[in-house]
Amino acid sequence: MKFQRHYKYLIKPTYEQKQILMRTFGAVRFVYNHYVDDLKAGKNMRGMAKNILSGYRAQYPFLNGIDGSALMHVIFQAQDKGNTLSIHKKRKDSRVSYTTANLEKSPIRIVDGRYIELPKLGIVELVYQRPIPEDAEIRNAAVIREADGKYYVSIMVEYDRQIENRELDLSKSIGIDYSSTHFYVDDKGNKIDMPHFFKEDEKKIAESDLKLRRMEKGSKNYYKQKLKTAAYHQRVKNRRMDFMHKLTTELAEKYDVICIEDLDMQEISKNHHLGKRTYDNAYGLFDRYLRYKMKERGKLLLRVDCYYPSSKTCHNCGHLNYKLKLSDRIWQCEQCGMILDRDVNAAINIKTKCLSDYNRRRVSDVSL
Ligand SMILES: [Zn+2]
Repeated sequence: MKFQRHYKYLIKPTYEQKQILMRTFGAVRFVYNHYVDDLKAGKNMRGMAKNILSGYRAQYPFLNGIDGSALMHVIFQAQDKGNTLSIHKKRKDSRVSYTTANLEKSPIRIVDGRYIELPKLGIVELVYQRPIPEDAEIRNAAVIREADGKYYVSIMVEYDRQIENRELDLSKSIGIDYSSTHFYVDDKGNKIDMPHFFKEDEKKIAESDLKLRRMEKGSKNYYKQKLKTAAYHQRVKNRRMDFMHKLTTELAEKYDVICIEDLDMQEISKNHHLGKRTYDNAYGLFDRYLRYKMKERGKLLLRVDCYYPSSKTCHNCGHLNYKLKLSDRIWQCEQCGMILDRDVNAAINIKTKCLSDYNRRRVSDVSL
């Protein structure tokens, strides 16, 4: 089975390379915006990207020196968005990027574990932290200048993994409830908290954002503060990704079946004491990492519908408690008398529901 993954690294282009990068970022935006204009002017833009590009190149000679694969990519991107007039021009953002393909005549490759070879740029120094698997093939690379002014390359690789048709051990399963007081609570009663730095970082970011807003736009100090703020954002992002990687790898190693809720961010963030963005981001990463880590191991990630009343149902007798309020952390079932911890009860229900749905599907698959 083919898997695709992204590996992102910091790169350190030289002054000359930065000049080339700036020109490429600009040209990519230029081509994209030109495409949008042509589309809106009623021209037929469904033709081959190659032909569209040579048309532009004939008209605007400065495009001839620019990485052709990056320009093609941006035309594909525009074409993908369809023939609708709703596509908008690219703005001059503080974060800019372009994507270039790994081609025989202009290869992308890691050199000596310290450099990367990129089309038009040649050899660029890179910080090679998480190595790409040896058998993986590089498909393309996005070169990015983040808002903090640093440059990154995000390499998309593809590799083949034989997924063993392993016999899943259903007893090695876990139910996870996205709690409003913890990051999650599992069916065994374990409560996993968001590390404290999530909250601290959030505060720091808010402070430096505020400082920035109070400064005179365009001044030297404003620019300095802007870079500082962006650097914070980046550091926080890296730390969160790191934490989520560790957490999800641990879970994927330990369990054959993981049962979670389908994400309903609004529901989650509404009830949380931290900002919505933080939570969207944290749960989004958790979900994404878990999905591919389970898949790679031939294991199962099961989901319940976000409307399934996992909190209100007593796991012991199935009674539905419609009166349950969000503030009720512990409640007693009217029907069977059991005392229930809100989150643990929900996690048990999520697991039970996922496993029974899964078993039912399996039975009907066999009978086909
Ligand atoms: Zn009950």
